[in-house]
Amino acid sequence: MAALLTARKALGLAVSSGKRCLSMLAELPETHQMLRQTCRDFAGRELAPIAAKLDKEHSYPAKQVRELGDMGVMAVEVPESLGGTGLDYLAYSLAVEEISRGCASTGVIVSVNNSLYLGPVLKYGTEEQKKLWITPFTTGEKVGCFALSEPGNGSDAGAASTMARQDGNQWVLNGTKAWITNSWDASAAVVFATTDKSLKHKGISAFLVPMPHPGLSLGKKEDKLGIRASSTANLILEDCRIPLENMLGERGMGFKIAMQTLDSGRIGIASQALGIAQAALDCAADYSLKRMAFGAPIGKLQAIQFKLADMAVAVEGARLLTWKAAVLKDSRKLQWRN
Ligand SMILES: Cc1cc2nc3c(=O)[nH]c(=O)nc-3n(C[C@H](O)[C@H](O)[C@H](O)COP(=O)(O)OP(=O)(O)OC[C@H]3O[C@@H](n4cnc5c(N)ncnc54)[C@H](O)[C@@H]3O)c2cc1C
Repeated sequence: MAALLTARKALGLAVSSGKRCLSMLAELPETHQMLRQTCRDFAGRELAPIAAKLDKEHSYPAKQVRELGDMGVMAVEVPESLGGTGLDYLAYSLAVEEISRGCASTGVIVSVNNSLYLGPVLKYGTEEQKKLWITPFTTGEKVGCFALSEPGNGSDAGAASTMARQDGNQWVLNGTKAWITNSWDASAAVVFATTDKSLKHKGISAFLVPMPHPGLSLGKKEDKLGIRASSTANLILEDCRIPLENMLGERGMGFKIAMQTLDSGRIGIASQALGIAQAALDCAADYSLKRMAFGAPIGKLQAIQFKLADMAVAVEGARLLTWKAAVLKDSRKLQWRN
């Protein structure tokens, strides 16, 4: 990654200038090509061979996540002054796709740390909060999580019932957050809770909670159909006390922070899906040349070739849409509106 950063400086690319024209997507900037290749090589060498085992055993790939931290992939958009890589969302999308191609679980871990955890702290944190809650999360040693959903509300995020009550110089949090990605492995969470339920979504605020922490416990790891090396569990808050200064953004701003974060987070999840789709296509094409029927590989049959061609077109179409979303975000055209 050091080579990447040097190349970026040498080229003087204004990678996050927002001036990038969509036609540039026909050929990625050199920095992005290098990042993509670096992630592809790493995923093929370090992740693909162990992905099935990690998934089966629900085991968090701590060593590989630290290596991804060294490569600058755990904090792609975070400025270098805070320990990040200082690239843009297109770079982040490329990295998540390539990593997910080797291991979809690792793709989610990277995606959630970058966009759902670091994203809102970078955008709404004070300078002091950024030092404390961003820099240690750029290296892969620590990862963060994002706790919005609740057992009783997923899509209807504005109906949060987790409460935040002020008691002297502390906030006291009570409630249960559900399906929280990275929760078992996280060292901090952005937690959404309401300070005034009568204000509905305008009463929700965001809080920075260290993990582990008194009053915070975790439910069992959900046994999902896949991506099991990325933990998903309830985060239970019972009189969980945090300092007043741990509020992220202003009081009542939580819903806006959550929606804006999810807008960006979806680009990460799309990139992850893309990596999985590409891996499935690679696997199908490879198998079609190995599977013999009537004396020849089935990949020589036109019917199979048409199927593979349809898959390739769908994957490439999805890739262009995902890159377009990333470029629009980089040019600040993808924004949450009131
Ligand atoms: C693997 C995994 C990881 C997750 N990670 C996180 C995480 O890190 N942090 C976090 O906060 N959450 C996380 N979630 C929760 C996820 O964001 C929710 O599952 C999602 O918000 C949907 O909520 P729900 O499952 O309760 O579905 P529901 O809200 O019950 O929706 C069910 C269906 O009804 C539809 N629907 C809902 N409301 C309407 C309506 N008004 N009109 C029409 N259709 C409607 C929905 O589109 C959906 O198809 C995760 C979930 C999973 C499965």
